[in-house]
Amino acid sequence: MTTPIPLLINPKAGSLFRSGLKAWLDTHRADFRLISTRSAEDLTEKARELAESGEPIVAAAGGDGTLMCAAQGIIDTRAALGILPCGTMNVFSRELGIGSRRFDTALAAMRGDVRQEVDIFTVNGTPFLQLAGFGPDASIIRRITPRMKKHLGAASHVVTGMQVAVEHHPIITVTLPDGEQVCGTQVILGNGKRYGGEGHLFANARYNDGLLDAAIIQLESTGILFEVISYMLMKGATDRNTTDFTQLRQFPSCTITAEATLDYQLDGDYAGTILPGESAVIERMPHPLRICVPATPEPVTHFGRLLAHPVLETMRKQIERMKEAVHQLD
Ligand SMILES: [Mg+2]
Repeated sequence: MTTPIPLLINPKAGSLFRSGLKAWLDTHRADFRLISTRSAEDLTEKARELAESGEPIVAAAGGDGTLMCAAQGIIDTRAALGILPCGTMNVFSRELGIGSRRFDTALAAMRGDVRQEVDIFTVNGTPFLQLAGFGPDASIIRRITPRMKKHLGAASHVVTGMQVAVEHHPIITVTLPDGEQVCGTQVILGNGKRYGGEGHLFANARYNDGLLDAAIIQLESTGILFEVISYMLMKGATDRNTTDFTQLRQFPSCTITAEATLDYQLDGDYAGTILPGESAVIERMPHPLRICVPATPEPVTHFGRLLAHPVLETMRKQIERMKEAVHQLD
């Protein structure tokens, strides 16, 4: 008889049904103690209560955003995070070898004894798991309204992208711990290698080296900017293959300022705007996050890489939405 693992879950989340996790959980009732959550804050609070009561593993079902909420609750404790990756992209879970929607692998990781320590960085105190973006990428996300997302889906990025393309992009200054200053118009900070799906942006990034990987891109034109990002995504950026427009750096902390208002995003969600004279302070949290990972990582196949392509992911999302609508009619 194995002890059930506490699992934080939003029983109303569409991803539960879309990903097949609901059906999988029905066949694994003895493995988990389901704990319903009402909101992101509630999830963080319940994760903290479980960890402080001495639970060795606190599991959460969801995408990267949900995992970050659970992580915030347990980061200063001895508990390890168990991941049931039922989001759309599951970037973090892929990077840790759990794969996307591989629930059997995820459970084996929780029952096993391999724990991976992962650095967590914060922007003005707010933590992120995978990525932070300062500049046009964040402005594009900020302009997407829930209405646009509903009617246009992934195409909303194209519409707001065109609006942002004609704007002036302020010069961003990144000040490193040794005082060196690097300027650009788009700054991307990565904790791991991936940007989305299986696209590797930072070829040399590691989760547990205490350092963030940064790309500081110096371009006026948004069109070329996104071409540069796509090139980096295809090749995995290293010092050898980036253009003169892109500077790659690794550092444990930095400060970001800009000459005009500057939007930023954390893990793909708009997170705030820095005004002239203000700064964003990026720091590492004192303790790493411990995560249950499989002894053997899920292999990434060519087919898996293809399936994780953003266009296919968007199509799959649309089909799953339809399936979910049918499910709700039942
Ligand atoms: Mg690192």
